[in-house]
Amino acid sequence: MDVKTLAQQVNTLASQCVRCGLCLTVCPTYQLNRLEAESPRGRIQLLAAVARDELMPDAILNQHLSQCLSCRQCEMVCPTHVPYENLLLKGRALLQQKNPRQTGLSFILKIMTYSATWRRRLFNGYRLFVKLGLLSLSTRLGLLRLFKCQRLLAYLPKPLSPTFINASPYKIAHPRGCVLLLTGCSSDVLEPQTLTDAVFLLNAWGYEVIIPKEQQCCGALHAHAGFDTHAATLAKKNTAVFLAIAQQQKLAAIIQLTTGCASTWQTYVNLPAPIIDIQRFLLDQWPTDLRLNALALSVAIHTPCSQRNSMHEKSLSQSLLSKIPELQLTHFGDTTCCGAAGDYFLKHPQLSDQLGQHVTKALKPLAVSWVVSANIGCRLQLAKQLADQKMHHRQLSHPISVLARAL
Ligand code: SF4
Ligand code: SF4
Repeated sequence: MDVKTLAQQVNTLASQCVRCGLCLTVCPTYQLNRLEAESPRGRIQLLAAVARDELMPDAILNQHLSQCLSCRQCEMVCPTHVPYENLLLKGRALLQQKNPRQTGLSFILKIMTYSATWRRRLFNGYRLFVKLGLLSLSTRLGLLRLFKCQRLLAYLPKPLSPTFINASPYKIAHPRGCVLLLTGCSSDVLEPQTLTDAVFLLNAWGYEVIIPKEQQCCGALHAHAGFDTHAATLAKKNTAVFLAIAQQQKLAAIIQLTTGCASTWQTYVNLPAPIIDIQRFLLDQWPTDLRLNALALSVAIHTPCSQRNSMHEKSLSQSLLSKIPELQLTHFGDTTCCGAAGDYFLKHPQLSDQLGQHVTKALKPLAVSWVVSANIGCRLQLAKQLADQKMHHRQLSHPISVLARAL
C-alpha cells in the first residue's frame, strides 16, 4: 500500500479515539512505564501525527511504537471500539515506508520464517554445535555476547528434541474427513512433540491429516514489524498451497496450533476451508464414543493474549481439559501479557523479562505439576522465566498434549 493511502487509513482509524483514557488502566507498557507515549491513547496520537506529517519518525517515536506488545488488551475495554491492532499494523507499515532504516526481523528469525529447509539446516547445525562442545566454549569466550545471540539461545528448549519428520498424509481407516495442519515457523524444530500429539488426536477424532510441506510462516512477525508487502506475499503463497491440495482432496478444515498466529490467519481470504484452532476443532468434533483415562494431576492453564483478545476464546483450554476425568485445573497470569509477543522478547529484553517474571510469579504458590499454554511463544517465555526463577520441576506443553496423555 502506498504512503498516502496508509496515512489516510491511519488518520481515519485514529479519529475513532475519544481520548477517554480507559485503556490506560489495562495496558501493560503504560502500567510499567507510566508514560502517555507508552499507552494506547498516546500511541494512537503519535501515529495520527505521523500520518498528518506533523511529526517525523525518529528513534524515540519508533521505540514507543515498537514497545507495544500487540496484546490487544486495550481493545477489550475501549468504549468506541477503536480497532487498535489494525491501526498499529497500518501505522508500523507507514513508518517502515517513511523511515525504512528501522530495524526489522533479526537475521536468525529471517531464516526461521524463510523456509522449512533452512530452518532445519540451522537447527541441525546448532545441535552439532552443542554436541561438539562449541556452545559452552563460545559462552566461556564471550562469543555469544559478541554476536548478540545469548538471549535467543536462552529461549531454546534444553535438550533440543530431534526435528519433527513430516510423514504426511497420516491416513486412517474409515475417516470422517481430511484436515490440513499448520505447523507455524518453529513447532517442527522446537516442539516436535506438540505436532506428534496433534496428528495423534486428529487421527483419533477420525480425521486424516496432511501437513503441507510447502507451507510458510503466516506472516505475523513481518506484519508486526511493518513489512506488510512481505506478509501479503506469504499469505499469497500459503493460500496457493492450500488451494492446490484442495483440488486433490476435500478439506474439512485447516487447523492452526499456535494462537499467536490466529489474527494473521484471520486476514487470509479465498481459502478452500475455514482455519480453526485445534482446541476448538477437537471440542466441536468430539466423538460420541470417546473415553478418556483419568489423570490425577494438577494443571495450571495460561491463556495467551491472542486466545483471549484476538480469538475471543478465553475458556477454550479450560473447556477442553475439563473433559479429562480427575484432572484438577487452575489458572494464572490471565490479566496481562507474558512479554513473549512474537519477537518482542528479543527486541525488548528488559520489558519482556519484567512482564514474564510478573506472570510466572503467580505460579509460585500453586501446587501444579503441569503448565499449559496454547501459544508456542508464551511457552518458550514461561520456560525461560521459570528456569530463571529456578522453578524447573513443572512440565510445560500445549493443552492438547495433556489430552493426548489422557487418551
Ligand atoms: S479507550 Fe479507546 S477511545 Fe478511550 S483513549 Fe483508549 S483507545 Fe481512545
Ligand atoms: S496492544 Fe497491549 S501493549 Fe499495545 S497499547 Fe494496547 S494494551 Fe498496550
